[in-house]
Amino acid sequence: MMQITMPLGFLGTVYREIRQALVDMGEMFDLIEQPPEVQDKPGAPELKVSGGAVELDNVQFGYDPERPILKGVSLRIEPGQTVAIVGPSGSGKSTIGRLLFRFYDVTGGALRIDGQDLRDITQDSLHAQIGVVPQDTVLFNDTVRYNIAYGRPEATEDEIVAAARSARIHDFIESLPDGYDTKVGERGLKLSGGEKQRVGIARTILKNPPILLLDEATSALDTQTERDIQGALHRVGEGRTVLTIAHRLSTIADADRIVVLEKGEIVEDGRHEDLLAKGGRYAAMWQRQSAEEAEEAA
Ligand code: ADP
Ligand code: MG
Repeated sequence: MMQITMPLGFLGTVYREIRQALVDMGEMFDLIEQPPEVQDKPGAPELKVSGGAVELDNVQFGYDPERPILKGVSLRIEPGQTVAIVGPSGSGKSTIGRLLFRFYDVTGGALRIDGQDLRDITQDSLHAQIGVVPQDTVLFNDTVRYNIAYGRPEATEDEIVAAARSARIHDFIESLPDGYDTKVGERGLKLSGGEKQRVGIARTILKNPPILLLDEATSALDTQTERDIQGALHRVGEGRTVLTIAHRLSTIADADRIVVLEKGEIVEDGRHEDLLAKGGRYAAMWQRQSAEEAEEAA
C-alpha cells in the first residue's frame, strides 16, 4: 500500500506546484507580454531573503538592442519601505516590474535582492518571495476558500479567514449562501471587480511574501471600492518591501519615496510633500490629476 500511496502523494505535490506556477504566470499577465526567456544558471542557489532590500544598480535594458528602454536606473528600496514609481505611459515602469521578476535579464548594471544578483539565483525561489496583486485577479471555478488558499494550499481554515479579514472580504463571504464554500468564477457566482481584487489580496496575504509588487492599471473601480482596496493593500504592505507602479497619484501620496521615471530615466525622487514643494514634474502631474478628479466630481 505504501509503495502506491507514496508516489501518488509526491505526484500531487508536483501537480500543485505546476498549477501554482501557472497561476502565478496568469496573475502576471499585466506585467508580461512574453513567456520568460531567461534560464537559471546550472546549479544556481535559491534566493535567501533576510530583510528584502531591492536594489537597481545602474540598470539598463531594452527589449530590442536598438531601442534602450531603461537608461541606467539606480534605486535602492530598503527593507520594509514602500517606493512608488510614477511617470508617463511608456516610460518603463512596468518594465522594471518585469525585470524584478526576471522575465528578462538586464543588459547593463544589476538588479539585486539582499545583495544577490537575480541572474545568480533560481527563478522559482525568486517568484516564491515576491507577491503580486494584479489589477484583474483571475478566479477559478471553485469555492471562495479554494481561491484564497491558492496563495498557500496547506493553509488552515483559521489562516484563510484571517487573510480574508485583512483583505476586508470576510464579511462579504459570510453573507454568501454557502459562505466560504460558495462556488465563484465563470460558472459560479460572479464577483464584482472590487470583490475579485480583494480575493486576490487575501491570496497574497496568505502567501506572505517579503516583497510585494503592485502594478496598478488605470482603475475602473468606483471611488469607495478603490478606497477600500487601497486600505487593504496598505495592510498587505505593512512589514514588507513594496514596489508600487502607480497611475493614480492619490493612492501613493503616503509612500516612503516616490520616483518619477521619464523615458527610462529617474528625473525626480523624494517624498510627496518635497516633490510638490519642488514644483517640478511630479507637482505638474499632481496638479493635472487633481484638476481631472475635481472635474469628475463636479
Ligand atoms: P509603462 O509601464 O511606463 O507604461 P512599459 O515599461 O510597459 O511602460 O513600456 C516601456 C516601453 O517598452 C514602451 O515603449 C513599450 O512600448 C515598450 N515595450 C513594453 N513591452 C515590450 C515588449 N514585450 N517588447 C517590445 N517593447 C516593449
Ligand atoms: Mg505599465
